Amino acid sequence: MLALETNVQFVKGIGPRIALLLKEKQILTVEDLLSHLPFRYEDRLSPQAIEDLKPGEMASIIGEVRGSALLRTRRMPIFEMTVGQGLGKIKCMWFHGAYLKDKFHAGQMVALYGKVEASRSSSSFKMIQPQVELLPDRHDDEESKLLEVGRIAPIYESLGSGKLASRWQRRVIWGMLEELKGRIPETLPEAMRTRLQLPSREEALRHTHCPEAGTPLDRLHAWATPAQQRLIFEELFYLELGLELKRRKLRQRQGIAFATGERVREAVRQILPFHPTAAQKRALGEIAADMRGDGPMRRLLQGDVGSGKTIVALQATVIAMENGYQAALMAPTEILATQHFLGARKLLERSQKKYRVTLLTGSLDEDRKRASRAAICRGEANLVIGTHALIEEKVEFAKLGLVVVDEQHRFGVLQRFRLMRKPNAAEPDVLVMTATPIPRTLALSLYGDLDLSVIDELPPGRAPIVTRQVSDARQSEVWGFVREQVKMGRQAYVVYPVIEGAKEDQPEMDFAQQPELDLELEQESHPKKSGAKAKKGSKSKPDRAAPLQPDEKPDAWLSGKPSLKAASSMYEELREGALKGLRLGLLHGRMDANDKEIAMRRFQRGEIDVLVATTVIEVGVDVANATVMVIEHAERFGLAQMHQLRGRVGRAAAKSYCILMTGSKPSPQAEERLAAMVRTQDGFELAEMDLSLRGPGEFFGTRQAGLPSFQVANLVRDRALLELAKQESAAFVERADQGLREEEKSMVWSRLREAWQRRYGLVEAG
Ligand code: ADP
Ligand code: MG
Repeated sequence: MLALETNVQFVKGIGPRIALLLKEKQILTVEDLLSHLPFRYEDRLSPQAIEDLKPGEMASIIGEVRGSALLRTRRMPIFEMTVGQGLGKIKCMWFHGAYLKDKFHAGQMVALYGKVEASRSSSSFKMIQPQVELLPDRHDDEESKLLEVGRIAPIYESLGSGKLASRWQRRVIWGMLEELKGRIPETLPEAMRTRLQLPSREEALRHTHCPEAGTPLDRLHAWATPAQQRLIFEELFYLELGLELKRRKLRQRQGIAFATGERVREAVRQILPFHPTAAQKRALGEIAADMRGDGPMRRLLQGDVGSGKTIVALQATVIAMENGYQAALMAPTEILATQHFLGARKLLERSQKKYRVTLLTGSLDEDRKRASRAAICRGEANLVIGTHALIEEKVEFAKLGLVVVDEQHRFGVLQRFRLMRKPNAAEPDVLVMTATPIPRTLALSLYGDLDLSVIDELPPGRAPIVTRQVSDARQSEVWGFVREQVKMGRQAYVVYPVIEGAKEDQPEMDFAQQPELDLELEQESHPKKSGAKAKKGSKSKPDRAAPLQPDEKPDAWLSGKPSLKAASSMYEELREGALKGLRLGLLHGRMDANDKEIAMRRFQRGEIDVLVATTVIEVGVDVANATVMVIEHAERFGLAQMHQLRGRVGRAAAKSYCILMTGSKPSPQAEERLAAMVRTQDGFELAEMDLSLRGPGEFFGTRQAGLPSFQVANLVRDRALLELAKQESAAFVERADQGLREEEKSMVWSRLREAWQRRYGLVEAG
């Protein structure tokens, strides 16, 4: 008898050969296959009428094949088919469609799904590359008629070969559900289900796979039916339950209880060059309270670019140093580490105490590195600032009390954990800073093992940054404007997507450990990559070839256009041409550490007017006199990146400008990003948009960030359920012993273990 654990091979209609194919998709058991949910539904009970279609809409229609032909054009064979409904008809086209030639015959009924477009030649409509399914005809058996027409049909992502398309899945999954009727075990405690009014698991699976007639399609597509919500909740509940347990375990570990008496507070105040904002004060208060406590601090300090996180972190290091401990500050790039080093030294000089600050980055020369390591090991270095060399170069701290990690998303959770695990007498406190304005509920739930402080206020006197999008064709105006600003005593950045030549071997990407540029480029042509699983349901995933716009040539994107302007060659060109007479500097990731440091210092001291750079300046670089940020090939940058870059200007009261220059005609997605940049400066708003454009996987960089991939849940769409799951899991741990039957308790714990082993393996590594 079929059970959830049964190997799929024994399901009716599968067998060993297909089981092998399914295995490639990580589908091994009946339960796995039942968890493969539809990503879209088609209403085949009351399908749309052709005459009601509107150009630009996605539509699903049912009609009869009227005729078809394979056209051999010079570039490719195109399969054309006319589908009719009474008097209405619609023309469909598939590029490289030879494989469809013998599949369709006049008189057959088909279901189409695609974007409706107005036809140029006539008043009728057309669809380019729609998804198409053959509907059963009178020769087919009763069951397939029942499953295919006159109902809401679930559409599944193909499981590999054409044979395993939606129609096959509908039949197999329906068969399994029938056979398992009344025997799918529950996975949530009954009391919880009753209180939250969630359907049983069996009901939820049944109605998600086979919605009842009359279920509104828009609810289904919003994943908002009770059945779908129940499945989402369950997934999020087990995620949050695991995080809650981790949090509790952490609180029991032994950390350092720092003293924060008047003497320490005075030392912390001494380094302040300005009045902190209320938000900065609040954040420091929260950090100090953690540091006072017995347990190890794990806190995320979040604030938009320019909100002033650095000073707060430095104040925290003073607390540690005043208690006789060492502090470490880890930055994602050498440039940023160097800048923090210079800045920290200057600030700490304000104090009467003689703190010793040491720099350690990978490309320092061996002597300097050795000296740094020795000072750290002997405890002579009080504050150590560096890159991930800090964790890689076998650095031993004499007495490490606090670790600050800047721009966390660049490191990824795993590295963070590695850092924490460094064998040490007492477990140091950890403060993670990020400028990624993750919406609060998301941050709380994703970094569930971290407490959160938010700096939601900019220092006073900042003028908004004027942002403009201009085409390359108007570059002489742009350079004229840059000259004007320089004449007024200001400085400017000009940023390029690459250093020079081919896009391989760009250290920018090594630093970032997150090939953003590559991602961007690939995304233009492959919007749905693996890892974007959580997007399921929100966007359609075609069964067959993705609808390719006729004018899109993915290869051109991937090979990198030869016309792409690069930092080092443009540095020469501008110096000899449009910006002749100004003092130009060059900064990119392939320069050695000393040269980078020199370039940064000279720009900081105002000895350079225009810094030509790559995205190495993206994070944290802080030169208040810079008022212009020119981004060339802005169409190639992601939203988060552009926002970070823009954050390099507007750091003082002077009016600042961000000019987004586009080199080629931007894709619609790029246009959307650029328009958003012009429209708003609110990091949270941009982050939300980025999140919904790219999906959480790409947004956080799934693999790097250790972000779990979800089966049903979508962190953007399901935020409310995530919050609920968090509350419920906390309450559950709190009162697990009360009012729960023994078997329910053990069911929850074993389900939890299973979920974490299978899904959140990465997160568990901590
Ligand atoms: P981020 O949060 O992006 O790391 P920074 O810490 O680099 O921001 O701060 C941005 C700029 O604002 C720096 O030049 C810093 O000196 C300045 N700043 C920070 N806090 C204040 C404040 N309370 N008043 C005035 N200037 C401030
Ligand atoms: Mg910073």
